Amino acid sequence: MADITEGRREGSLDAPTRHPLAWKDEAFFQAGPLFHELERVYDICHGCRRCVSLCNAFPTLFDLVDESATLEVDGVAKDDYWKVVDQCYLCDLCYMTKCPYVPPHEWNVDFPHLMLRAKAVKFRAGGTPLRDRILTATDVVGRIASIPVVAQAVNAVNAMPAARRVLEKALDVHHEAPLPRFESRTARKRLAGADSRPAGARAGGPTTGRVALFLTCYGNRNAPDVTADLHAVLAHNGIEVVITQRENCCGMPKLELGDLESVERLKDGNLPELLRLVEAGYDLLAPVPSCVLMFKQELPLLFPDDPGVARVRAAFYDPFEYLAQRHKAGLLDTNFGSPLGRIAWHAPCHQRVQNVGQKTREILELVPDTTVTPIERCSGHDGTYAVKRENYAFAKKICRAVVQRVQEGAFDHYLSDCPMAGGLIEQGIGGQPATSAFALLRRAYGI
Ligand code: SF4
Ligand code: SF4
Repeated sequence: MADITEGRREGSLDAPTRHPLAWKDEAFFQAGPLFHELERVYDICHGCRRCVSLCNAFPTLFDLVDESATLEVDGVAKDDYWKVVDQCYLCDLCYMTKCPYVPPHEWNVDFPHLMLRAKAVKFRAGGTPLRDRILTATDVVGRIASIPVVAQAVNAVNAMPAARRVLEKALDVHHEAPLPRFESRTARKRLAGADSRPAGARAGGPTTGRVALFLTCYGNRNAPDVTADLHAVLAHNGIEVVITQRENCCGMPKLELGDLESVERLKDGNLPELLRLVEAGYDLLAPVPSCVLMFKQELPLLFPDDPGVARVRAAFYDPFEYLAQRHKAGLLDTNFGSPLGRIAWHAPCHQRVQNVGQKTREILELVPDTTVTPIERCSGHDGTYAVKRENYAFAKKICRAVVQRVQEGAFDHYLSDCPMAGGLIEQGIGGQPATSAFALLRRAYGI
């Protein structure tokens, strides 16, 4: 076991630096170096164990160690290393909120990116199930499932217990897991022609006052209301708003699979349109935190030498980070007509790791007679993790802490900035539906 008290200074006093992923080097995909690194980092984690409550990856690792003959990592069968990898959904919380051994610490622990490397090795070796390939093909599946009539049929089938049992048998999608609805009236259709181009949109702070919305697969086909509400709030504040003319998935689902070639293909498809908009003076926003994180963090670490990725990164904002900048510049309308009361706000992991602070709370609390209670715990949904048959029970267990906080608080509203997390929390609550921060702001403005 690594001696974590060996006189070394923990790195938490320095800002963490994240190293780019050297995935273009063939060594990245070689099993020998990968397993060597897994053993090194697993051993450090075994000596530390701070992350035991974050997700199911760490309890899986520690159980393997505690049940081994040596009670150390060297007693764990190498084949069992994959059990830990399979439980990581790359939320980044261990890296961003817990680990004192991240770079610049000399131990250089980046647990999520080590898991990503292992997933990439597994994917290239053909070890990824068909189910996972289908679930992460969000743009292809969404394009088909949101065709009129097909959307109604898919939604009806997804709501039938017998059909869900068949789906579970055929594809290992848990029969109780909440599946997203597909909407044939997508955000792209709803917002076509709704571009808001006020005369004299004003720049303020780092913002141009001109926004291009990257709709995202989910925000376009599964949660178009959320996207339309964001659009309305921006337009109400005198911001010029357009939507992208075309887009691919941001690549986050394929990243979680370790399918880095697909991530690159999707990135290459998205960059020309996003760069066109940035060059025309637009800032970029997306309604789903994971997609924002993809452009702000993951793509820059995967493609550190791509100047287009760097330009898009600099222009991308979390929506509430953007509104907070507008408020700081005196450009946010704070004439709210309706109080919102007591709100429970779940801050999703992929928003927390953007390190922008509690901007959703700051903005909602500008509304008179409104208090926001933050819940900074993982929901357990995490992309496709919660819908997989083998993970659903773990996801519900992770989500229970969030559900309890909402239930105990007698709140008027609850929401997550991630609509998928909101769906899992809503299932745990069973009754009052989750809302979105954009819908609440719209209500407060009376628009
Ligand atoms: S990235 Fe998230 S899911 Fe993966 S090990 Fe860290 S905390 Fe767990
Ligand atoms: S990721 Fe860091 S904080 Fe978490 S268990 Fe491992 S060494 Fe400890």
